[in-house]
Amino acid sequence: MAVLRKRTIPFCLPTISEREIEEVVRVLKSGWLTTGEVTKGFETRFAEYVGASYAVAVASCTAGLFLSLRVLGIKEGDEVLLPTLTFCATANVCVHLGAVPVLCDVDDNFTIAVDEIQKKITPRTRAIIPVHFAGFPCRMDEILDIAQRHNLLVVEDAAHACGTEYGGSKIGGRSFALVKSVPRTAVFSFYPTKNLTTGEGGMVTTEEKEIAERIRILTLHGISKDAFARYRMDGSWYYDLKEPGYKFNLTDIQSALGIRQLERIDEFIARRTYLANKYSAAFQNLSELETPPEVKGASYEGRHSWHLYVLRLKRNALLITRDEFIAELKRRNIGASVHFIPIHRFAYYKKTYGYKSGDFPNAEDLTDRIISLPLYPMMTEEDVDYVIYSVLEIVKRFRR
Ligand SMILES: *Cc1c(COP(=O)(O)O)cnc(C)c1O
Repeated sequence: MAVLRKRTIPFCLPTISEREIEEVVRVLKSGWLTTGEVTKGFETRFAEYVGASYAVAVASCTAGLFLSLRVLGIKEGDEVLLPTLTFCATANVCVHLGAVPVLCDVDDNFTIAVDEIQKKITPRTRAIIPVHFAGFPCRMDEILDIAQRHNLLVVEDAAHACGTEYGGSKIGGRSFALVKSVPRTAVFSFYPTKNLTTGEGGMVTTEEKEIAERIRILTLHGISKDAFARYRMDGSWYYDLKEPGYKFNLTDIQSALGIRQLERIDEFIARRTYLANKYSAAFQNLSELETPPEVKGASYEGRHSWHLYVLRLKRNALLITRDEFIAELKRRNIGASVHFIPIHRFAYYKKTYGYKSGDFPNAEDLTDRIISLPLYPMMTEEDVDYVIYSVLEIVKRFRR
């Protein structure tokens, strides 16, 4: 008999404390609400945290991905390689630039398969967008090596990867000195479900000053100095426009949240890791379930930031489908989700580029048996125990 709790366990909850609230209130009372000193401070601290030379705050990860591709020179007809198992934004930004999103299958660790990248390179290929799925790092050394050999740009979709490490460095940092010649950026998301949130927001990091400066100018209409400089007492009203830009800036209200969140990001990740390990310890010996890939051992040096906990069902071992499994969790007041519906299954991408299910056997196999369980620092011991209890109970009830 299921234990039905009155309290629900939502799929996700942001971690907002008095510290964040105080800082936002301080900005609200300061007389300066939009992009200014607080955002500059957030950029500086974020760059320090990931070990990057430059960080530019943007309105969202989507905006940052778009501006990165644009500033790195992606244009009509260019081909951009990306994994099919990602959020639609990763592919959409390519379409907005007239580029062709060339989808790749994923590995068992849910990230873009390196041999797929090799296979899909053509004379028109210009860029790769690796996605650090769930906070698990892609093999950046191998990807950058391919990029260097084929003259490709790299824009890392680091939406899940704030705090993720690979090969001894944080994602978005100035690592892999040997491939300095590859023009690249990494783009983070501060959407409320992500490891660090500003409500909505994102950050682009890069090693090249010109890339950072041009992205910065394009976030504010293309105006060659920011609004803060224009309106400061000692500033001038004069500005010039070199090219028409966008309105993709991050406000000081949002950055106030970000600064406080960043102070606690490692604490958040430690708690996420603890909860993820607890899930895996409970599920790993069941033949009906497959736990997420882990980053450990000399063969894969890194740190998982545990943005998501993605459980895989072994379909032949259960009498119910993944959708029914999620419905069973919902009956027990537990929120769950699916990351992701692969890009090649969306009507637009099927119709426009002719993608078919058979083209991506790994992603196809994964997508119908994955469940993202609740995972966030605010989960209590009782919460995680209840989710574990419920999953085990559903498995017992519906095992073949
Ligand atoms: C959340 C997410 C994005 C988009 O982030 P926004 O900040 O909402 O624009 C992009 N890629 C992936 C993989 C994501 O999960």
